[in-house]
Amino acid sequence: MPLLVVGSVAYDTVRTSAGLRKDALGGSATYFSISASYFSTVGLVAVVGQDFANSDIDLLRSHEIEISGLEIRQGKTFRWSGEYGAEDINTRDTIDTQLNVFGEFSPKLSDVQRGSEYLFLANIDPSLQLDVLGQMSQRPNLVALDTMNFWIDGGIESLYRVVENVDVLFMDEGEIRSFTGEINLVSAARKVMETGPSVVVVKRGDHGVLLFQGDDVFSAPAFPLESVIDPTGAGDCFAGGFMGYLAATGDLSNTGFRRAAMAGTVMGSFAVESFSVDRINLLGKNDIEERFRTLTKIMAFEPLAEGESLPWRY
Ligand code: AMP
Repeated sequence: MPLLVVGSVAYDTVRTSAGLRKDALGGSATYFSISASYFSTVGLVAVVGQDFANSDIDLLRSHEIEISGLEIRQGKTFRWSGEYGAEDINTRDTIDTQLNVFGEFSPKLSDVQRGSEYLFLANIDPSLQLDVLGQMSQRPNLVALDTMNFWIDGGIESLYRVVENVDVLFMDEGEIRSFTGEINLVSAARKVMETGPSVVVVKRGDHGVLLFQGDDVFSAPAFPLESVIDPTGAGDCFAGGFMGYLAATGDLSNTGFRRAAMAGTVMGSFAVESFSVDRINLLGKNDIEERFRTLTKIMAFEPLAEGESLPWRY
C-alpha cells in the first residue's frame, strides 16, 4: 500500500452563511482519502458505528479507496458539529463533539498496511497516532501529521512526542501558535522544526499556506474563489492532494514539495465549494489540472533579468 491514512470518519453538522447541513459524511480520513485517491492508491484505517450508511461505503469504494481497515463497531458513528463566522469564514466554533465509537478506537494495522511507504496520521488522539507509528514494520518514506485544537488542548504531551517523530507537520495558524506559544508564524515553524519535522505546512485558510523546509520558505496563495460554501475538510483535502502527489511521484525534493503544496491547494479549493464531500466526490482530471495550470499563472511574475534592477528613484 503506497499511502495509508489513519483518522476519523464522521457525520458532520455544519452551519455556514450558505446554510445548514446535518449529519453529512465528513471526518479527517474521509476528506483526505477521497482527495488523495485522484493521484494515488490509498488505504483508510478508521472506525464507524452500525449507523454508517451503505451508500457512504459505496462512495469510498467508488474512489477505489482500500477500506479493509474501516472497522464497523456496535454503537454510533463519530459526530462533529461546527459553525463558521458569518462575517469571517476563516473563523470556526466547534459546537459539539460526540466521539461515540471513535472513543474506543484502537487501530490495528494489517501486515500490508504496516509496510506502507507514505503515512498520514490524520486528526485523531495523538496517543493513537504514536501507537500507529509504532506499528509500522519499517520507517515509511514520509510520515505526515495533522491535528486540531481539540487534541492540542487535551493531549499536548502525547502530541509533542508524536510530532518529534514525523517528517511533515500540518497545522493551521491558530493551532501552531497555541502549540508552540509563538505568535510569529516563522518563529513557530522554526521551533517545530527544531524538535524533529523537516517540513512544516502552516494553513492560513483563504490566505493560502506557508511551506517551511530547512531554510526554504514557499508561500502558496489560496485559489481565488467567488463563492465559499463550507470550509470543513479543506485542510484534509489539502493534505490529501499533497500526500497523494508525493506518493504518486516519489519526488521528495524541494521542487516536489512545492508542487505537492500546489496540488493540495487545488484539492482544498474544491472542498470548500460545497457542503460535505459533494464537490470533491465528483471531480474530473480536467477540473483538477485546469486549476493547477491557472494557479501557476496566478503565481507567475517576471523575474529581474541579469543586470536589471528595480526602478530606483534615487
Ligand atoms: P478540517 O476542516 O480540515 O479541520 O476537518 C474537519 C473534519 O474533522 C470534520 O469532518 C470533522 O468530522 C473532523 N473532526 C472534528 N473534530 C475532530 C476530532 N476531535 N478528531 C478527529 N476528527 C475531527
